[in-house]
Amino acid sequence: GCGGTKDTTAPADTAETETPADDTAATGEGGLVGVSMPTKDLQRWNQDGSNMEKQLKEAGYEVDLQYASNDIATQVSQIENMIANGVKLLVIASIDGDSLGTVLAQAKDAKIPVIAYDRLIMNSDAVTYYATFDNYMVGTKQGEYIVDALDLENADGPFNLEIFTGDPGDNNAKFFYGGAMDVLNPYIESGKLVVQSGQKDFEAVATANWSSENAQNRMDAIIASNYGDGKVIDAVLCSNDSTALGVTNALAASYTGKYPVITGQDCDIANVKNMIAGKQSMSIFKDTRELAAQTVKMVDAIMQGGEAPINDTKSYDNGTGIIPTYLCEPVFADANNYKELLIDSGYYKEADLQ
Ligand code: BGC
Repeated sequence: GCGGTKDTTAPADTAETETPADDTAATGEGGLVGVSMPTKDLQRWNQDGSNMEKQLKEAGYEVDLQYASNDIATQVSQIENMIANGVKLLVIASIDGDSLGTVLAQAKDAKIPVIAYDRLIMNSDAVTYYATFDNYMVGTKQGEYIVDALDLENADGPFNLEIFTGDPGDNNAKFFYGGAMDVLNPYIESGKLVVQSGQKDFEAVATANWSSENAQNRMDAIIASNYGDGKVIDAVLCSNDSTALGVTNALAASYTGKYPVITGQDCDIANVKNMIAGKQSMSIFKDTRELAAQTVKMVDAIMQGGEAPINDTKSYDNGTGIIPTYLCEPVFADANNYKELLIDSGYYKEADLQ
């Protein structure tokens, strides 16, 4: 992962050992940092928000943390307020990557640096850095999982596949989809994988707002029109856990055939429970403590007038040019390794998953 294994456990330790000795930390003298998160509805963003708040405070900053209920206008006005309140820097996980240009022009005028967090902010030259996980790799890992689980190299097939990705306004969705389809397309082209619904293109498989309900409705319709005659669904590529949840719900409601391979991402608690129960095959674990730690390093570097650590200068063009990026590494998770990944690392408690 980013920052290595040591950093994974660092946040919890520093909280106890370093904060009391550090005067800056006690007073928030580092200045006010605005942290804008998209929504509380999805568990991971709550985790991101509280990790960012905790780690920024430990590093001596004051924090204004806001969640925008997946509503673009709310996010814009929260950021306007942060600027009015004199934040020294903004960390933003955007709802819609294309909707922050105007407010971020205000930030730029006020010389407030902006870090795009997890999701790239598009078409704004106010974005200083981008910190995220390797989104393309998330997709390739999901695609490779399906290839292995169905043994596509050796088995005759054909196997039926359906595809669910994320919100078209989220730049990440294109990377998840792109990574997975680069792995799966050759099998679709050779006929080993068949998408019975015919819904393959990004627009056709996108899920507005990443909503479980939207995914469930589309899966319901797909089952009714394509699998009513007893055809088997062999695999469902789901770009994340909220879409996987919708697909799982639709399967529970109206599909009785052999249970498909289902991918996911985030290791949300509901989905880890589903993995343990055999209702979801895998997820991608993105340790939000690592992303927060890396982002706080960026904040520190910027505040001290230095250069932030980056490891990618080619993948993420936001329309105004390449944004220097730090990519953390996403990790494969399933029912066999979740204990080590999620419980032993202190990310969840055993009781959370019961
Ligand atoms: C994030 C995913 C998340 C999705 C829905 C993406 O931008 O990278 O981790 O599942 O948004 O919130």
